[in-house]
Amino acid sequence: PSITRGLTEEVSKVTWDDIGGLKEVKKKLQQAVEWPIKHASAFVRLGLTPIRGVLLHGPPGCSKTTLVKATAHAAQASLFSLSGAELYSMYVGEGEALLRRTFQKARLAAPSIVFFDEADAVATKRGGEDGHSSSNPTVGERLLSTMLTEMDGLELATGVLVLAATNRPHAIDAALLRPGRFDLVLYVPPPDLEARREILQVHTRNMKLDRDVDLEQIAKETELFTGAELAGLCREAGIVALREDISATVVCGRHFGVASNSLRPSLTELQIA
Ligand code: ATP
Repeated sequence: PSITRGLTEEVSKVTWDDIGGLKEVKKKLQQAVEWPIKHASAFVRLGLTPIRGVLLHGPPGCSKTTLVKATAHAAQASLFSLSGAELYSMYVGEGEALLRRTFQKARLAAPSIVFFDEADAVATKRGGEDGHSSSNPTVGERLLSTMLTEMDGLELATGVLVLAATNRPHAIDAALLRPGRFDLVLYVPPPDLEARREILQVHTRNMKLDRDVDLEQIAKETELFTGAELAGLCREAGIVALREDISATVVCGRHFGVASNSLRPSLTELQIA
């Protein structure tokens, strides 16, 4: 991937199979993003207007970014990822310029996906938290209005879709949720038991596991773990095995046990409910 400050351009290699659980979310993304890009002519034939934007929300570490990458890969679309926090921290005018430049690049590279991570940083409710008046737009307000202009301008361009992710959906400005902007809002939940087992499978598929490793049991014992933490657990189990014996050939159940004792989940019961 090519990375300039605030913007990453890449052709993603992540596939749907790299993501455990989330069957419904995957299906909705396939229909909303993959189909219109891959079967554009069928949409034209039937006179269907593809959606322009999808907002993903849910707790951190539960695969929002990974879902976007898998979507881009499946649709064979170029992926332009913008960090909301980075845009927000730029000098006056710099963030807006980067936004405009990114949409321009995305049009040229179509089919493409423009992804806003930490979207709440650029799309916070106007006249909101910091109490600025509308006559003196804040950094966030300027970025938001540039983003709205760019999204509205996509009408004529085909094959450019906007995806955004946030942990704070309530902070998103309502203007972005109007029809023709983020038409689809998807909740990406923390993993349930089945999803945790699948995530553990994904992250151990290249590891040499001893027969005593029971992923089902580990999934049961990791109730409040996020996908990111389950990935960390698998990595840590491997490290524990090596620390015990640098010439180890397999990772055993006890290594997972030691690893999980050193990790604490970040989610709370409330976030799961
Ligand atoms: P944030 O809000 O912190 O940006 P996120 O929801 O975008 O988090 P990701 O960055 O997609 O989460 O996930 C972090 C890492 O956790 C991924 O690189 C992946 O290894 C792992 N992971 C998370 N969820 C899953 C999952 N469902 N299946 C497989 N791996 C997962």
